[in-house]
Amino acid sequence: MNIQAVQVKNILSKTNLPVGDYAANPYIGCTHACKYCYASFMKRFTNHPEPWGEFLDVKFWPEIKNPAKYNGKSIFLSSVTDPYNQFEEKYQRTRALLTQLANSGAKITLQTKSDLILRDLDLLKKFKEVRVGFSINTLDEKFKNDMDCAVSIERRIDAMRELYNAKIKTTCFISPIFPGITDPIAIIQRVKDFCNLVWLENLNLRGDFKYKILNYIKQNYPALTNLYNEIYNHKSRIYWEDLGEQVREFAEQNNFDYARNQDNIARPFDAPLLIVNYFYHSEIIKKK
Ligand code: SF4
Repeated sequence: MNIQAVQVKNILSKTNLPVGDYAANPYIGCTHACKYCYASFMKRFTNHPEPWGEFLDVKFWPEIKNPAKYNGKSIFLSSVTDPYNQFEEKYQRTRALLTQLANSGAKITLQTKSDLILRDLDLLKKFKEVRVGFSINTLDEKFKNDMDCAVSIERRIDAMRELYNAKIKTTCFISPIFPGITDPIAIIQRVKDFCNLVWLENLNLRGDFKYKILNYIKQNYPALTNLYNEIYNHKSRIYWEDLGEQVREFAEQNNFDYARNQDNIARPFDAPLLIVNYFYHSEIIKKK
């Protein structure tokens, strides 16, 4: 693993993402090394010869001079890294950023695959609004281990429960959904008692990893080869339409709220679980 410190001018940048006015990425690169990582395009903007997942630039920035400027603004951590990758334990750059913004009135959304976030519970409580999302796209630890180097699914679920019990809003980000492998309903059933929001996003295969993932499916799930061929080579959307309908019916039967492509997710802590179907999300962002 190649790790180096880098000095940057700013840690916050404006973003068009639906989840924030600003995005903050305390690291460049991500050691979770997910095989399907949409952020791996970032490697082009670095001088790193190592593959994605095998380098990490640790960012240092001048202290935020006027944190009150972010009062009422929403800040997303992180769009192209995991703010709690395993090296955060040592370098504490996410913790440094939260410390600088604490009590500023900023609304924070964090997205992670790690339970290291529990270390910062004291700081999270200093924000008026905070939401923590955990990426969980399987309950099968073997498949998870094939796909990423982050902590186990069980540890993510335990962390979600602990944050929810501390009155922090939680999101289960079921993404990417692998056709025939990810069972969103089983995941929702597992987390529904300590989760405020579920986001569903389909696997979108493009760039370098399309070949890798299709090859993985061929080797490990040969019975799914035709399905993947239909979806990713013939662009069929039938699978996603059927799955969306199954989840909608499941939501109705369980009195959960269900929406398509809803960006405004500000709801009281005790509101019913909201399930948002964000299939083909990247197309929606592009249109916007
Ligand atoms: S955790 Fe997110 S940013 Fe990190 S490798 Fe996985 S998908 Fe990419």
